[in-house]
Amino acid sequence: MQTSFTLAQLADPDIAASEKILRACVHCGFCIATCPTYLLDGNELDSPRGRIYLIKDMLENDRPATAEVALHIDRCLSCLACMTTCPSGVHYMHLVDHARVHIEHTYRRPRGERLLRAMLAKLMPYPRRFQLALAAAILGKPFALLAQAVGLKRLAAMLRLAPWRGPHRRLAPQIFPAAGPRIKGRVALLAGCVNDVLAPQINAAAIRVLTRSGVEVVVAEGAGCCGSLVHHMGRKEEALSQARANIDAWAALEGLDAIVITTSGCGTTVKDYGFMLRTDPAYAERAGKVAGLARDISEYLAALPLAADQSAPGLVVAYHAACSLQHGQRVTRQPKELLVKLGFQVKDVPDGHLCCGSAGTYNILQPDIARRLRERKVGTIEGLRPDVIAAGNIGCMTQIAAGTKLPAVHTVELIDWATGGPCPPALREHRSTMHPAAG
Ligand code: SF4
Ligand code: SF4
Repeated sequence: MQTSFTLAQLADPDIAASEKILRACVHCGFCIATCPTYLLDGNELDSPRGRIYLIKDMLENDRPATAEVALHIDRCLSCLACMTTCPSGVHYMHLVDHARVHIEHTYRRPRGERLLRAMLAKLMPYPRRFQLALAAAILGKPFALLAQAVGLKRLAAMLRLAPWRGPHRRLAPQIFPAAGPRIKGRVALLAGCVNDVLAPQINAAAIRVLTRSGVEVVVAEGAGCCGSLVHHMGRKEEALSQARANIDAWAALEGLDAIVITTSGCGTTVKDYGFMLRTDPAYAERAGKVAGLARDISEYLAALPLAADQSAPGLVVAYHAACSLQHGQRVTRQPKELLVKLGFQVKDVPDGHLCCGSAGTYNILQPDIARRLRERKVGTIEGLRPDVIAAGNIGCMTQIAAGTKLPAVHTVELIDWATGGPCPPALREHRSTMHPAAG
């Protein structure tokens, strides 16, 4: 694609990076066929190519974002299916991230939306605040239908997504020693924010599998949210400050083999720290090192000699490939191979490249599209008649679980169970309805 940025514009490193991305696009439109928002409504402006044109026009002409641009960019899930499909290697993720920052700086959203976004940005990345918000949401949960009926769709979406049980205490900074006489590795575990408050059993399972395999696990003092929640809302400075805090926390640790992450959305962002902080002389080098050490839990476990500890559970697992894992990190084989190796029967979800509609805060900010995508996803999953749904991202688990009675668990919970850990809580609750091998 031809561009006409001026030299003065190209002096801005963000514009220079976006210009390079725009030039790589050859307008072929292959990406359109795999874009979930285009598939729903067939609007070219809700396709990757349409969005690329909107972004090019906005940036090239150095124009403030219009309501139309904000509408179509906001509808983008950042699922990155388009990046997997693109034959020209267009880095849509960096382009849309840049567009979101430009929108945040130049477009004034309606008041209600500004407040909602500010509230999400100030609550979700901070576990204590999120715990309080979650406690309030649980009290309001019975009123979700009422909220929907009076048109408060975003409030209804928040209440529906809130779990029925109370928030959990977060994982405190500490070291979990490796079992056995010989330490085979040392990793930092990103405890995260939402993940840890909503589903502490995920990190607990990861810690058990790792330590049982001879790996020491460190939850570092000072590490917190990876920054992705605010990053995807265009709040660049907040995202960078959260990234810097993590880099400081992990750089202080000696002898790490990896930084292990159990939420694939966070993993995609941590792996991008090198790019995000490339112009910050105080952090660029360390950010690149941290990004290089980041591993999804399934990537790290795939290199360990795990073996099933009990008779193979034999459950049928519908494996939902989270977009951030399959498109963002290109981790596709390892979760399924681990499950098969440990005795599960794994089924791929048809149209597995399509997002479930979770996408960070998307299912709150765009509840209608998110609901339609969930219905489509749940339909394809239930068609497999699985015993359990496995995914590598708490966002997908929460989103899908809100639309089905099937239990949704993290892949590492199944891995832990099959290698000697407890049955995942969501599965325990469903065991009576499953076939005898689950009992
Ligand atoms: S990131 Fe996903 S929703 Fe956004 S343009 Fe690409 S495929 Fe479409
Ligand atoms: S597939 Fe790639 S090159 Fe083709 S239109 Fe989409 S982004 Fe551009």
